[in-house]
Amino acid sequence: MTFSALRILKEGLTGNKGWRPHWRDPDPKGEYDIVIIGGGGHGLSTAYYLAKEHGLKNIAVLEKGYIGGGNVGRNTTIVRANYMMPGNSEFYSHSLKLWEGLEQDLNYNAMLSQRGQLALFNSDAARDAGVRRANAVINQGDDAEILTVDQLRREVPYLDYDQTRFPIYGGIMYRRAGTARHDAVAWGYARGADRRGVEIIQNCEVTGIDIIDGVVQGVQTTRGAISAKKVAIVVAGRSSQVAAMAGMRLPIESHVLQAFVTEGLKPVINHVVSYGMLGHFYISQSDKGGLVFGGNLDMYSSYAARGNLPMAEHVAEAAMTLMPIIGKARLLRSWGGIMDMTSDGSPIIDKTHVDGLYLNAGWCYGGFKAVPASGNCFAHLIAQDRPHPAATKFRLDRFRTGTGLMDEEGTGSHHNLH
Ligand SMILES: Cc1cc2nc3c(=O)[nH]c(=O)nc-3n(C[C@H](O)[C@H](O)[C@H](O)COP(=O)(O)OP(=O)(O)OC[C@H]3O[C@@H](n4cnc5c(N)ncnc54)[C@H](O)[C@@H]3O)c2cc1C
Repeated sequence: MTFSALRILKEGLTGNKGWRPHWRDPDPKGEYDIVIIGGGGHGLSTAYYLAKEHGLKNIAVLEKGYIGGGNVGRNTTIVRANYMMPGNSEFYSHSLKLWEGLEQDLNYNAMLSQRGQLALFNSDAARDAGVRRANAVINQGDDAEILTVDQLRREVPYLDYDQTRFPIYGGIMYRRAGTARHDAVAWGYARGADRRGVEIIQNCEVTGIDIIDGVVQGVQTTRGAISAKKVAIVVAGRSSQVAAMAGMRLPIESHVLQAFVTEGLKPVINHVVSYGMLGHFYISQSDKGGLVFGGNLDMYSSYAARGNLPMAEHVAEAAMTLMPIIGKARLLRSWGGIMDMTSDGSPIIDKTHVDGLYLNAGWCYGGFKAVPASGNCFAHLIAQDRPHPAATKFRLDRFRTGTGLMDEEGTGSHHNLH
C-alpha cells in the first residue's frame, strides 16, 4: 500500500475502507539470519536499512511490548545536528541529511518540521562556548547562526528578557533543526522494513542470549527459542539488562527523563527553544498545539518509566521564569522514559566480545535525532562487519582504555584518570 494524495482522495470518497495494517503480525520462526532485539526507533531503522541497503531479508525484530511503546514514542522529538566532538559531529550531520529525505524514502508522513532550534546563552562564558560550538557545526557543513539579544527580542518576543534569574545573553539558531512526529517515525520504519520482508514480532521478550564457545547461537524468548547467525542488541534504557544476558557489564546507567505537555493552544512558539543553565529547560509547540517541554534527568538510576515531583517542580519554575505566559496553560500530561546514559554522553555502535553479537546503546537523552543514522550505520556494521564511515568512533572499548572518549557533555568523564 503506497500513500499518495490520490489514494487519500479515493479513500476519503469511499469511506476509508481500503486501508490495511501497516505491518504484518507473524508468529516467530525458529531461525533467522539476523535477530534484532528491541523494536524502538533504532531497532526498526536498523532492520529497514539492512533490508534496503544490504539486501538482507531473513530478519526478525523482537519487541517485548508494542512498536512505539518505548522511548521512541516518549521523547520530545527534537531533531538537530549541533554536536561538537569529532565522531559525534559527522554522525549527527549524516543523520540530519537522512531526516531531510526520510519521508520520501519511507513514503510516510513523519511530520518533519524544520522550524529551527534556538539554544540560549546565560553568560559571557556560555556565549564563548556557544560560538565555539557554532564554528564546529559550520565546519562540519551544517548551519548555525549567533543571535544577539536585540535580534532575539524581535524573533522570539515571548521570552522574558528582563528577569535576572535565568539571564539571556543571546543564542545560537540552528535553522535546519526542528521536530518530527515520534511514533510516526517508528511506524514508518516498521512499515518500510515489513514491506521488504522483515518480520516484526511484538509481545516477544528476549529472556536469554545463547552463546557457545564465544559464538552467538540465537536467543531465548517468551515465545520460544530462536536461532540466529547474528544478534543485535538495540534496547535503549534496558541495554545493561539485555547485555548482561551475554555476560557483559556495560558502562551505562539507566535514568529517568520526564516530559510534559499542555492542552492545545493557538500557535505561540515557532521554534524549539532550549536553555542550558541550571538543570536545563527546553520547549516547543506540537502541530496539535500542545506546548511540549522538559528539563534534566531525575538524577538517580531507575528502570521505572515515570518521574518524580522535584524535577517536575524545577521544570515548571524554569518555564514560568523564561516564559511567564505559560502560566495560563493547563498541563495535560507528563510521562517518563528510561535513558541509557554513558559517562561521556556519546553512544556505542560496535561489535562485542561474542562473535555475531552487536551492540547499539548509550543514546542518553538524545537518541531520537539519531534514529536514521543509527540504523543506517548499525546495519552497515552488522552486514559488513566494519563500521560505517560516519560511526567509526562509537567504540565500546573507549570506556575501558580511556582512549577516544567523546566528552560531549563537557562534564569531565575520564575513566582512565580515576
Ligand atoms: C522524555 C524524553 C524526551 C526525549 N527527548 C528527546 C529529544 O527531544 N530528542 C532526541 O534526540 N532524543 C530525545 N530523547 C531520547 C530518545 O527518545 C531515545 O534516545 C531513543 O528513543 C532511544 O532509542 P529507541 O527509540 O530505539 O528506544 P526505545 O523506543 O525505548 O526502544 C527500545 C525497545 O527495546 C524493547 N526491549 C527492551 N528490552 C527488551 C527485551 N528483553 N526483549 C525485547 N525487546 C526489549 C523496549 O520495549 C523498547 O521498545 C528523549 C527521551 C525521553 C524519555
